[in-house]
Amino acid sequence: MKVTIHKGSHEIGGTCIQLSSEKTNILLDAGLPLSTDSQPVDISRLSVDALLVSHPHQDHFGLMATLPPGTPVYIGKLARSLIDATQIFLGKDRYALDFHDFKAWQPFTIGDFTITPYLVDHSAVDAYAFLIEAEGKRLFYSGDLRSHGRKGVLFENLVKRPIRDIDVLFLEGTMLNRSNDLFPDEKSVEQAIFQTIQPQKNISFLLSSSQNIDRIVSAYRACKRAGKFLVIDIYTAWVLEQLRQITQNTPAMDWPEVRVFAKGSQYERLKANPEYFGDFSNRLFRYRVMPEELRQNPGAFLYFGKMSSFSHIDEFKIAAAPVNVIYSQWLGYLDGTHPEYYGSVQIAAYRSDPAINFVYAHTSGHAPVEDLKTLAEALKPKMLIPIHTEHGEDFSQIFANVVTHNDKESWSL
Ligand SMILES: [Zn+2]
Repeated sequence: MKVTIHKGSHEIGGTCIQLSSEKTNILLDAGLPLSTDSQPVDISRLSVDALLVSHPHQDHFGLMATLPPGTPVYIGKLARSLIDATQIFLGKDRYALDFHDFKAWQPFTIGDFTITPYLVDHSAVDAYAFLIEAEGKRLFYSGDLRSHGRKGVLFENLVKRPIRDIDVLFLEGTMLNRSNDLFPDEKSVEQAIFQTIQPQKNISFLLSSSQNIDRIVSAYRACKRAGKFLVIDIYTAWVLEQLRQITQNTPAMDWPEVRVFAKGSQYERLKANPEYFGDFSNRLFRYRVMPEELRQNPGAFLYFGKMSSFSHIDEFKIAAAPVNVIYSQWLGYLDGTHPEYYGSVQIAAYRSDPAINFVYAHTSGHAPVEDLKTLAEALKPKMLIPIHTEHGEDFSQIFANVVTHNDKESWSL
């Protein structure tokens, strides 16, 4: 089998690995780089038989649109629904690719390759690691994973009942040289949200990703404990609606403590795509919150969303109490080197605004080094290759059997 890391050997994001057997050519993720300095891989010329996507984060699937129309793409069913939803809400066409879904732990084949998806704990829902077998070789690709979210048991299972005889482990190393100590797990984030909103007399906003379901659950649970309402936007309500494909246990717009803020450009998308949304639009209005209600009793609400839906933060600035802005994403977005992160300048300004109580509460979507070590020691690969990391050269000090490769290098197994 021939292996080529097109991107990801020395950077976080933009991951793209090609595996070629005698007859079959597949891509493992087709990520858009996170850094604007990094050139995306031109995957349109690779003539691959299929793309396998680990999870619905742009830095793993974002180049999908550049594949020739009709290319087979294997991805979790819910992950695909969320990618579709994002396209619709952005006013873009859905991808003209030949989508196939798979089920966790059920092997399937693409030509010479047999693939077994392992559901993992990550900040994206419907995220997988893959066992990939072909021509007598066994590869395990971690994708992005962790043990400290709400599905940590999936990581524990990988450690307790490790897959045997792995020739190559592609192990993500996002957290090398990064610390998760402030908020070691999702429960500590929930606690920080609760402590911030509970005594609050004015409104609270929480900035996060609507696809970070663990975080929505944390916000919901904090609201329930504090006796407040969780306000979500239409996009988030639709994401939660999609989640019902797999579980009835995550909050949704019809839960008593949840309200939907149904205005603005997202509402326009809803009206423009009646065949896509079905009766969702009608049901949504039963659970909406009016701007007047927010203004009358702002202390009763925690508004969850992205910066793009927070144009009204300023409206709630009053002398009696500052507005809570809980920033619940990676702090690196605010360091001034990510102008593409929408609202980064504005959010950074909130930190020194006396009318805003700026609170940071976030845990990483990625495993810290100790957990990666536990996993690698359980899997005992013959060869461990760093991926999705800025510190591949440090791997050999932490893990056994490390072999580093550069982007665009090909080698045979
Ligand atoms: Zn990810």
